Amino acid sequence: MTATGAAQPSGGAAHQRYVVALGSNVGHHRHGPPPAVLRAALRALVDAGLVLEAASPLIASAPVGPSRRRYANGAALVATPLAPPDLLALLQRIEHDFGRVRRGQRWRARTLDLDIVLWSGGRWLDSRLTVPHAAFRERAFVLVPATKIARDWRDPVTRLWVKHLVTRLTRRRAAPR
Ligand code: ATP
Ligand code: MG
Ligand code: MG
Repeated sequence: MTATGAAQPSGGAAHQRYVVALGSNVGHHRHGPPPAVLRAALRALVDAGLVLEAASPLIASAPVGPSRRRYANGAALVATPLAPPDLLALLQRIEHDFGRVRRGQRWRARTLDLDIVLWSGGRWLDSRLTVPHAAFRERAFVLVPATKIARDWRDPVTRLWVKHLVTRLTRRRAAPR
């Protein structure tokens, strides 16, 4: 288990800050369609005791993997005393409360996905958790919302700022093959 390389401003050990990615591509019987699911999820984060410092506008994005449904995506900047594994457990409890059932396959249709993208403490690596999120640099649906709330956060692995990661991804996509 490692925690190294503080990459962004933090209010001290008792005050961790995180960028959390939110995604949904299945509506919820009570909350409504995916964008309403994400708004309810933001309320659930606050109800669980996290300080919601900022929330990005929501975007619609194409499906990843086997599911054909479009996603609603967003990002939240949260503050909490929780260490990364404890935050992961909390996020998974909220996913479960929203009716998400884990059947072992990633990327399947889901009511709610909450991923830890970046942490003020830098990197975390154990058997269940990789922070920064292993795929976030290649995902416009994560980087575009994240840039709205965490432009000046730095990826401790590449040392690039979020705003640079998003322009790098956009430029790479636009480049002729
Ligand atoms: P992806 O991680 O590619 O976005 P996913 O979000 O659909 O896929 P999940 O089914 O939500 O994947 O999670 C699979 C496992 O990923 C979780 O059980 C968790 O232990 C692990 N995991 C590793 N790093 C992270 C992270 N940074 N945030 C959330 N889960 C993570
Ligand atoms: Mg995910
Ligand atoms: Mg996930």
